[in-house]
Amino acid sequence: MLKTEADGRPNHAALPETMKAGFLDKPLEVNVRKIPVPEVTGTEVLIRVEAVGVCGSDVHYYAHGRIGKRLVQYPHIQGHECAGTVVAIGDKVTRFQLGDRVAIEPWVTCMSCKWCKEGRYNLCPDVQFLSTPPVKGAFVQYLKHREDFLFPLPDHLSFEHATLAEPLSVGLHAVRRGGLEPGSTAAIIGMGPVGLMTVMAAKVFGAKEIIACDVVPLRLEAAKKLGATKVINVAEKNVGDEIQSLTAGLGADVVLETSGNDKALQSSVELVKRGGALVVIGFPAEEAVPLNVTLMLQKEINLYSVYRYTNTYPLAIELLASGDFPVDEIITDRYSLDEIQQAMEQAHTNKSGSLKVMVYPNQ
Ligand SMILES: [Zn+2]
Ligand SMILES: [Zn+2]
Repeated sequence: MLKTEADGRPNHAALPETMKAGFLDKPLEVNVRKIPVPEVTGTEVLIRVEAVGVCGSDVHYYAHGRIGKRLVQYPHIQGHECAGTVVAIGDKVTRFQLGDRVAIEPWVTCMSCKWCKEGRYNLCPDVQFLSTPPVKGAFVQYLKHREDFLFPLPDHLSFEHATLAEPLSVGLHAVRRGGLEPGSTAAIIGMGPVGLMTVMAAKVFGAKEIIACDVVPLRLEAAKKLGATKVINVAEKNVGDEIQSLTAGLGADVVLETSGNDKALQSSVELVKRGGALVVIGFPAEEAVPLNVTLMLQKEINLYSVYRYTNTYPLAIELLASGDFPVDEIITDRYSLDEIQQAMEQAHTNKSGSLKVMVYPNQ
């Protein structure tokens, strides 16, 4: 029987009692099991998860069971790039109704600490980020989330495209932090999904030249379609020489490193113009990476680190909905939740043939 609110509106759709969830039981092994559908109270919203993108961080935890000192606590549920439909609302929810289509900014923060108050809620000490251990993620059929981290989707924006608001948010935050200005030259290292979304962000922020670097031809092709003005296959060409010649010997105004590769980060210092900015986005495999600080000082480089994003979802959704970017190009593989093991394997092993792997928990 449907419960109703005081005003007679139903507060949830007809829901099953249990749902499927993809459990990471040990490295490289995911199993689907049934668990209860969560109940919502207060400002919580229950979302039927329609699409979830597999993120590089998901793949890293899947394969290695850890990122740095953060260990997976098994069994774990992964997935955080997600969108879906509102199917139940808590009694204090004011912003959403049943049937609303939403993108999920995949965390909740306290909203009262120093950093939350400053708008830098990515630095909240009490953040709970979906899929970052021990917090469980979105490879489930139904997910509960606080309403202030949900964003409405325009009708014509598909759920799978809406999931890209997450990696695009990283790109937007990175170009903002790096102070990328209209007319400038951006060099972006690493054309995985975050790199590709950073190409989009650089274009939106008015970069005149966007130089995309990677070793995988498929990724470089996608970069061109999303707005890169020049692509460099670093397996074939010397990036330093190429960027020198493309910038009349000046170097790039902003270099954005998304690959997390030690060598790429180290050589990024050389690619930056004197007085320019280096934005570090990709997590390196080792915690400490030696950098040429002397050269950084001599060039007076601004070094920025980027940790996730803040206040980017509305813009990200608008850009994805604009139709200005052929983002469909980057979704290369599609799986149901029952096929989650294959989805993770594909993302893990087929880095040259696969860009974004998408999972549909309710198909
Ligand atoms: Zn992600
Ligand atoms: Zn906080």
